[in-house]
Amino acid sequence: EASKETLGFQTEVKQLLQLMIHSLYSHPEVFLRELISNASDAADKLRFAALHDSSLLESDPNLDIRVSFDKEAKTVTITDNGVGMNRQEVIDNLGTIAKSGTGEFLKQMTGDQKKDAQLIGQFGVGFYSAFIVADKVTVETRKVGEQEGVRWISEGTGEFTVESIDREKRGTTIILHLKSEQQDFADGWRLRSIIRKYSDHISLPVLMLKEQPEPEEGEEKAEVEPEWETVNTAKALWCRSRSEISDEEYKEFYKHISHDFADPLKWSHNRVEGKLEYTSLLYVPSKAPFDLYNRDMQQGLKLYVQRVFIMDEAEQFLPMYLRFIKGVVDSNDLSLNVSREILQKDPQVESMKTALTKRVLDMLSKLAKSDAETYQAFWNEFGQVLKEGPAEDFANREKIASLLRFASTHAATSAQTVALADYMGRMKEGQEKIYFITAESYNAAANSPHLEVFRKKGIEVLLLTDRVDEWLMSHMHEFDGKSFVDVGRGDLDLGSLDDEADQKAKEEAAKEHEDLVARIKNVLADGVEEVRVTNRLTDSPACLVVGQFDMGAQMKSILQAAGQ
Ligand code: ADP
Ligand code: MG
Repeated sequence: EASKETLGFQTEVKQLLQLMIHSLYSHPEVFLRELISNASDAADKLRFAALHDSSLLESDPNLDIRVSFDKEAKTVTITDNGVGMNRQEVIDNLGTIAKSGTGEFLKQMTGDQKKDAQLIGQFGVGFYSAFIVADKVTVETRKVGEQEGVRWISEGTGEFTVESIDREKRGTTIILHLKSEQQDFADGWRLRSIIRKYSDHISLPVLMLKEQPEPEEGEEKAEVEPEWETVNTAKALWCRSRSEISDEEYKEFYKHISHDFADPLKWSHNRVEGKLEYTSLLYVPSKAPFDLYNRDMQQGLKLYVQRVFIMDEAEQFLPMYLRFIKGVVDSNDLSLNVSREILQKDPQVESMKTALTKRVLDMLSKLAKSDAETYQAFWNEFGQVLKEGPAEDFANREKIASLLRFASTHAATSAQTVALADYMGRMKEGQEKIYFITAESYNAAANSPHLEVFRKKGIEVLLLTDRVDEWLMSHMHEFDGKSFVDVGRGDLDLGSLDDEADQKAKEEAAKEHEDLVARIKNVLADGVEEVRVTNRLTDSPACLVVGQFDMGAQMKSILQAAGQ
């Protein structure tokens, strides 16, 4: 037929398919969760479109998902009456990976990582997980409001075909032709138990045909019209009360909304009543996505208004430095017609953002207090992003500061484990400041001559070597009433930590070496601003210091990289 064409998968899809089949062979059942998750998204999208044009729902208003199987034909079929796809959408959605940077990331994966199901999860295993259990997948679909249906067929090797078909109903049917070793998925009991385990939280009914009783020996099989029954709870999870929801359900719901494969680290589920009414369910992922620093990384919450899905990636509800948080917010106050533009200006949204930000920070503080080990795991994944916080969120600076973790001279390791409260607890008698040093690497910081006097006096110094650290410290003025001092800057004033003898020695040395200092200044001429005698060194003869108000080396290189 003229409408039929054969197309190749994008290279990234081929690579991902390979990896997925290898890393997920021990969890083949995830295919069903993913396909039901997509069917549910398709229903959400249709409901949203119907807000503007209710005629879209007219002929078939009850949205649901149907799962069936055929033991003889060895197939499993998932059907939804959601938005469906047109030909171009089928080609784009089922032939490419939209996430930018995927190609480079896949190339950089090592052999060990390739076996890691968690890493695969970063892409959201999604539709392609069908090929874990099937050696041929047929998709038939028709987009709501359009005439032409489309059939997509692939064996998951390198190419797929698309052709036009007649399809009476809108929505999508996915037929999996099971691999010979996966044929026991064509079984009612098995499918039901997977749906209850992984898709119970889906707010649409997931239906299966009632099992027919097996006929007795010698009896004819009764000809009863098969009947569909709902297999899941079919209620929006965030609307249920916390006490009714198990951890497993919270975890599976996270996977549905985040498209992540791994369990979340922590979550917080709250209903707010009063002037503003909304429900939020916020999750901290356990792993940072590979594109955390990509400008077009997916961020933001899933927004519902009175349980109707409005949009993904509503980024107006949380600040940038919490962009890794996933979740749902369901408002009773916003209009169903709300758009991104309106969200940006709405003062209600601003108040919700303030409250949700506080929720997240409180959730992290609680975690840090109750489970230091898990908090450390969080810090290792997301600490760098949290460090953007003090610059972005003035009001919560102190709270964010208490969540920060640093390397320090207290422990001989580059691991960032020291909280400012720990540091304060170890301050010397008479110590008024929190001392830190910034450098390009941990070794450069730990071996800096600037630390000599601090070692001698037994004073702890924070060692800051991340790219954002200078930026961070330029926004951190004090913590718990103590100000921060960069020991690599200006004229080091140790205050009352310097005893009189130290002071006197310094003055005498300055006098004694007056001539030498003048000569060095002369030789270095324009290369330096000032030369002076110091008591900050015990072993090294000399060191370079940045002026109190000059830009540090890290900031310079960041600005240079940005072309300034
Ligand atoms: P994700 O769900 O993370 O976007 P998937 O690989 O699961 O990724 O699906 C890719 C895309 O294919 C979806 O974003 C959607 O546009 C489309 N899609 C998949 N299944 C369906 C469906 N049942 N109905 C409509 N569109 C679908
Ligand atoms: Mg999906």
